[in-house]
Amino acid sequence: MTDILERCDIALLKREETIAREDALELTNLSDERLPDLIALSHRVRLQYAGPQVEVESILSAKTGGCPEDCHFCSQSGRFETTVRPEPFLPTDQIVEAARRSEKDGATEFCIVLAVRGPDDYIMERTLDAVGAIRANTNMNVACSLGILTRPQAEALADAGVHRYNHNLETAREFFPEICTTHSWEERYETCLIVKDLGMELCSGGIMGMGETPEQRVDFAFELRELGPAEIPLNFLNPRPGTPLADRAVLSPLEALRCIAIFRLVHPGAIIRYAGGREVTLRDMQATGMLAGVNAIIIGNYLTTLGRSPSDDLRMLADLGMPVKRDVPVKRGNDGT
Ligand code: SF4
Repeated sequence: MTDILERCDIALLKREETIAREDALELTNLSDERLPDLIALSHRVRLQYAGPQVEVESILSAKTGGCPEDCHFCSQSGRFETTVRPEPFLPTDQIVEAARRSEKDGATEFCIVLAVRGPDDYIMERTLDAVGAIRANTNMNVACSLGILTRPQAEALADAGVHRYNHNLETAREFFPEICTTHSWEERYETCLIVKDLGMELCSGGIMGMGETPEQRVDFAFELRELGPAEIPLNFLNPRPGTPLADRAVLSPLEALRCIAIFRLVHPGAIIRYAGGREVTLRDMQATGMLAGVNAIIIGNYLTTLGRSPSDDLRMLADLGMPVKRDVPVKRGNDGT
C-alpha cells in the first residue's frame, strides 16, 4: 500500500480529487518526524488551488461583552466573571475611523463583530448604518459577524452590500454541547445555509484546542467541507481567565501545524485564515503556519485579546515572499453604490 502522503499528493495535486476522511484520520497519526513532509505537501496544495496571495483582514468589536450565551471559551459571555466589561454599540464615526486606519495598515476586508446571540431591530439598524458609511468612505470589502440571523435580517445585510458573513460552527457537531448549552450547533448551521443561499460569501471556522479529540477535529473539517465556506478562520484556544476553559492547556505548536495542514488538504481552495490565539499557540512558528496552508490573516487586535502589530505581520509575509491580495472592489460613488 502506498504511503499516505504519496496518496494525498496523487489525489490532490495530480488528479485534483478530494481526500477521504480516512486519509485525514491517518494524517493525525503521522509521526512528528514526517510533519515537515506534510507541511510541504499542504503548501504545494495551497499554491496550486489558491495561489500565493494572502488576504489581510481587520476586525472590530463594535459591541463588546454582556452576551447572554454561554460559549465556554468566550470572555464576552455575561455569564462568566471575566475582565471584559460590556460596552454599548460604538458610534458609526468611530467604526468608520477604525476601518480607515486598517485600510491604511494594508487590510482589504473589514469585519464588524458584535457580541450577541443574534441581532435585534436596534442592532440591525446600527449595523446597516455602519456598513453604508464604511462603503462610502473606504474602498474595503465589508464583512459582518452578528450571530444567528433570521432570513429577513440576512437579506437586509446582503442588500446593504455586506460581502461576507462570519458565523463559526466553532467545533465538531459531536463536541459542541461540551462548549455551549444555550444554543445548538444546528442553529449555527442554519444561519450558515441562509447566508450561502442569499449569495453572501460564508466565513465559517472554529477554535482548535478546546478539548476536542484529533478525530473530532477531522470530523469538523469534513462537516465544514459539506457546508463549503469561502473562508475558514482557524482560531487556537487562548484560555481566558474566568471562563470554563481558563485552565485548558493550549495545543503544542506541532499539533497546531498538523491541524492547519490537514485543514488545507481537506479544503484545498478555501481561504484559510489565521485568527485568534496563534501568538500563544504557535509562538515562534507562526511563519511556519503560513507555509502549512494558511493564506489569510487578521492583523491588529482581536476582539478581546491583543494581536501582533500589523507591521510585524506584513513583514512576515514579505519575508516569506507571499504577496498581499489587493483585489478590493472598484471605487464606488459617494452613495456607496
Ligand atoms: S461566542 Fe458569541 S454567542 Fe458565544 S458567548 Fe461569545 S459573543 Fe456570545
